[in-house]
Amino acid sequence: MAAHAVRRFPEGFTWGTATAAHQIEGGNANNDWWEFEHAPDTVCAEPSGDACDSWDRWREDVELVASLGLDNYRFSVEWSRIEPAQGEFSRAALAHYRGLCAALRDRGIDPVVTLHHFTTPRWLTDQGGWESGAAVERFGRFSEVVAGALGDVMSRACTINEPNVVAVMGWMAGMFPPGKSDKELSRAVAQNLIAGHRVAVEAVRGAAPGVPVGLTLSMTDYQLLEGGEAKLESRRYHSEDVFLDATGGDDFLGVQVYTRNRIGPNGWAGAEPGVPVLDMGYEFYPASLANCLRRAWDYTGGSLPLLVTENGIGTTDDVQRIDYVRQALGGVLDAIAEGIDVRGYTYWSLLDNFEWALGYRPRFGLVSVNRTSFARTPKPSAAWFSSVAAANALDA
Ligand code: BGC
Repeated sequence: MAAHAVRRFPEGFTWGTATAAHQIEGGNANNDWWEFEHAPDTVCAEPSGDACDSWDRWREDVELVASLGLDNYRFSVEWSRIEPAQGEFSRAALAHYRGLCAALRDRGIDPVVTLHHFTTPRWLTDQGGWESGAAVERFGRFSEVVAGALGDVMSRACTINEPNVVAVMGWMAGMFPPGKSDKELSRAVAQNLIAGHRVAVEAVRGAAPGVPVGLTLSMTDYQLLEGGEAKLESRRYHSEDVFLDATGGDDFLGVQVYTRNRIGPNGWAGAEPGVPVLDMGYEFYPASLANCLRRAWDYTGGSLPLLVTENGIGTTDDVQRIDYVRQALGGVLDAIAEGIDVRGYTYWSLLDNFEWALGYRPRFGLVSVNRTSFARTPKPSAAWFSSVAAANALDA
């Protein structure tokens, strides 16, 4: 290939960036995460507090996405603001998100709305949360209300963000609320989240016909080391396949990838010596994205178009960020060349934000946020990403 060959993405390939309500809005005191962050024995590095103050500064966020020339913005609606008590829906909160969608549309940016991104209202977790089948029905009702209120202004709906991560981190690793470690319970929660996804798909189709709806799944590039066959199979089955099995008939599959996991006879074998380990504790491995796209495509038999709804890197080294995304995007082009229907790429995240139990240390943003003034400053990677999106091509 010539030194400066340009590799083009298909016509209509969509470029975006993503955030989630609890990670940027601030003051979401009525959900399970806030409670978890403030528990006396919390595993969290620090509370979310004001986050990026995006509940008030959302117009600045819209301007940032517009200034990057991106054509979609994926964000989540905060259930505990919209339904602060069971069955009590806040018109003001719904109007807030309508305003956000409308402002995005005014600038030619497609609003991609996630209905559940890790947080659950306290009134529901007080009743057992996702451990109870009742959560499924409540989430269906909530999804119906949101789809009814935003159906005419949103471009795409994502049901539950990474239900596999919720079940494992909350009920096995103890790093998400409710901080438990119980394999059986974790699997039962996974089943309720899967049922939640299905009711949300139906709710969106009923209240917002024509709005494409799908699941956003965390995928890992599982790589086999000698003797690890059984461990790899089991891990992939419980953390990916059971969820992929629930996506039949959806409009798209959102694939979210950050790294790989090498699996040996004792499970995760850790990082390979010589491969950089990032602030999140995982390996710098941009090829994981294309490998997961291939796996998703093979597993689903090519029945659903794929969208990369999250991919990114937590680093303070912005040159490393560009390197990571450039390599990951090269992999997306390879996957497309192999015949895989990948329709878009969303960088996680627009802003440096609240990285859950790790607090504000990992920096995923294209834009940094001053923790005192909340001033936003685009990083060089923002300009770079913007130029790739504008060209719809990667300069190899
Ligand atoms: C989540 C985000 C998170 C990101 C980086 C994904 O699992 O959807 O909320 O910030 O990974 O860890």
